[in-house]
Amino acid sequence: MDQIIISDLQVYAHHGVYQQETEKGQNFLVSVTLETDTRAAGMTDDLGLSTNYGVVCRFLNAFLTEHTFKLLETAAEKTAEALLLQFPRVRAVDLEIKKPEAPIPLPFGMVSVKIWRGWRRAYIACGSNIGDRKGHLDAAVAALREDRQCRVIRVSDWIATTPYGGVAQADYLNGVIAIDTLYPPEVLLSRLQEIERAEARERKERWGPRTLDLDILLYEGVVMEEEKLTIPHRDMKNRDFVLRPLAQIAPYERHPVLGRSILELLEEVEQNGEKHVLSNND
Ligand code: ATP
Ligand code: CA
Ligand code: CA
Repeated sequence: MDQIIISDLQVYAHHGVYQQETEKGQNFLVSVTLETDTRAAGMTDDLGLSTNYGVVCRFLNAFLTEHTFKLLETAAEKTAEALLLQFPRVRAVDLEIKKPEAPIPLPFGMVSVKIWRGWRRAYIACGSNIGDRKGHLDAAVAALREDRQCRVIRVSDWIATTPYGGVAQADYLNGVIAIDTLYPPEVLLSRLQEIERAEARERKERWGPRTLDLDILLYEGVVMEEEKLTIPHRDMKNRDFVLRPLAQIAPYERHPVLGRSILELLEEVEQNGEKHVLSNND
């Protein structure tokens, strides 16, 4: 992606572990690479279509002088997050904060902390088969829209489906939500479980009836297998009720392990797999 680069912006601020650092303050040097598409601005010569680096510099200066952090790590973490929330065209930031006058009683060149943080695309499967099914699914979208760390990009249609996994229960309403998020995968899962609980989700049996189920299908290109979280979702390739709405909003997204597009996976399950999508959705 294109980049806008600011290097060694000088900011006098009060971060540090020692009292003298927080009282007297010292100079910090801030370098940031903003990952952003500059083409629209480049083609039109219109600053309104870009991110104004002067405004970014003033923002960095204000943020780092108005807050006090003990650790350079925290200063970097919070500053990166603030930038990503403040400047909507910025997809990711590479941020380095240097502390040239750090209290180290030895000769040294520079100490600094450098981090990369960015918005990452995730796809969330949602399902409900108790009570006001549409209400529960809409509530999940609303909760994600209200969360500053998430941006809802697209929402599929809600489709009627028959239950999966052999437990006798009512039909489902299923769909998929595409979001960009600043949460790492584990934190996103906890956040989704909070939203489930807010809709009175009870966790009794796997594949049993529920007011709201939210599963992470894909998270950027991440592949992980841990006790509490497997990404991509372990069973998505066998579920037409997941692949159908996912194919509606992201047909050419690729499954990072199987290497096949969502459309291909959907065709495969529709030809050879179980059928859960009810025909009245067509
Ligand atoms: P399935 O995961 O097969 O759709 P389920 O949604 O009915 O079944 P739950 O009872 O909602 O299962 O969740 C069981 C556990 O699955 C959760 O506590 C969570 O830790 C774990 N889990 C593993 N991978 C994921 C994922 N990608 N998204 C959501 N939960 C996951
Ligand atoms: Ca599920
Ligand atoms: Ca689940």
